Amino acid sequence: MKLQMVDLLTQYDSIKDEIDNAVLNVIRSGQFILGKEVKQLEDEITKYLNCKHAVGCASGTDALQIALMALNIGPGDEVITTSFTFVATAETIALLGAKPVYVDIRERDFNIDPGKIEDAITERTKAIIPVHLYGHPAPMDEIMAIAGKHNIPVIEDTAQAIGAGYNGVKVGTIGAFGCISFFPSKNLGAYGDGGMIITNDDALAEKVRMITNHGSRQRYYHSEIGVNSRLDTVQAAILLVKLKYLDGWNENRRAAAERYSALLQDLPVKTPIELPGNYHIYHQYTIRCEKRDAFAGYLKEKNIPHAIYYPIPLHLQEAYSYLGYTKGDFPVTEKLTEKVLSLPMHPELTDEQQISITNVIKEFYSKVNA
Ligand SMILES: *Cc1c(COP(=O)(O)O)cnc(C)c1O
Repeated sequence: MKLQMVDLLTQYDSIKDEIDNAVLNVIRSGQFILGKEVKQLEDEITKYLNCKHAVGCASGTDALQIALMALNIGPGDEVITTSFTFVATAETIALLGAKPVYVDIRERDFNIDPGKIEDAITERTKAIIPVHLYGHPAPMDEIMAIAGKHNIPVIEDTAQAIGAGYNGVKVGTIGAFGCISFFPSKNLGAYGDGGMIITNDDALAEKVRMITNHGSRQRYYHSEIGVNSRLDTVQAAILLVKLKYLDGWNENRRAAAERYSALLQDLPVKTPIELPGNYHIYHQYTIRCEKRDAFAGYLKEKNIPHAIYYPIPLHLQEAYSYLGYTKGDFPVTEKLTEKVLSLPMHPELTDEQQISITNVIKEFYSKVNA
């Protein structure tokens, strides 16, 4: 079997009949926009996460934007997040005219450093967006304590972490909002774009639901400025099938992560860890390594799929240069962008595949150290 970062077709083969039926049922029902599967999925997700409200939308990016809109964030406001994340986190802040304010990360879990948040808070700070990067929860107790002290709402970017746990609760349910992505390669992936906004607050849930649907509660009556961002019914039907398997798939990822770490233990690479009280769902298995670019080149030559998440931190991206950040502003983030490398990770990954991947890594380090 060909090695891949994520093997969506092998997964589809394992649940093909259920998926095909679910899709056909939607098509035969003729209910394409906000069909019954969307509500069913929202109900199932609230049960799965143990939260009060889940509102479908068109993508994880939209989930972030809509959460910010529900908090009335706009020009003149600042939102604290990290520079070591996918661009969507900062993009939505900037798109609404607010300013992304970055805080450095901790090397051990790649997440926002709670000890550095307070220095970044000003009277314009209107939200904090921690990202549960690679599927490892951000330090929510510390973040919520700081946010509570300054009365700032927290939006959890849960795009990479559906099913991850923090002291016994699922992430995405701790802050004012949790934002989930159903991008195909995420742990719970649709067959197209999709997202969901999580909240335990009734009024915010109501507002979010209106924003996703043109700001209206009743058709053609618009009480908010909204967007068109609904979860597609076909995608909801697919996700309803896949949600049943999510815990098992996350367990497979954890087992694969453990195997990788055992296979890599004597090499000059740092393997990812799970901090106490956390349940890591390994959206990515990301190592930190020496001679990263030569190493990546070697993997490429040997046809071993791999990826760098992310090669350029957001504070050094061209589109965001107007924010005025420069090289050296976030040393841990900058150091890690030069060291991280993610290996193939998906629930269908086999022992043999992992052995062949790690053998190539052993080969590389025996050559460079010879
Ligand atoms: C994938 C991702 C998003 C965006 O999700 P989409 O569904 O692709 O819009 C946002 N934040 C992070 C950290 C992500 O990994």
